[in-house]
Amino acid sequence: MSRILDIAAIAKHAHSRGVKVAVDSTFASPALQRPLELGADIVIHSLTKYINGHGDARGGVILGDAKTLHLLRETGLRYPTRAALSPMSAFLILRGLKTLTLRMERHSASGLAVAQALDAPGCGLG
Ligand SMILES: *Cc1c(COP(=O)(O)O)cnc(C)c1O
Repeated sequence: MSRILDIAAIAKHAHSRGVKVAVDSTFASPALQRPLELGADIVIHSLTKYINGHGDARGGVILGDAKTLHLLRETGLRYPTRAALSPMSAFLILRGLKTLTLRMERHSASGLAVAQALDAPGCGLG
């Protein structure tokens, strides 16, 4: 059910009405999409999936301006849940980050090849 949305247009529309824009950019990863550069105020990534890439650590990150992040830090889930990234998870996620761009290029090329094969005449789906 994922849809590609025009983040810049949404941010422009929202900001004209004083509304902040948050984007969960987990599926694209920073290798394919940078919502802050498109006008989003907050970006959320699961570190568990593409960014780590090895299935051996869990984590998440929220990016944005200092004021908003400070508010989230002081009032968010960190204190009730005591959720904090362990040093080992941080190490594993940073290791995965080093190959993110290469992996996302291959994911994109493979996805395009599958889509083109499914779209080809005679495959029954095109
Ligand atoms: C999985 C997922 C999350 C949550 O990430 P976890 O690291 O598994 O907690 C958030 N957003 C999207 C789009 C996801 O696919």
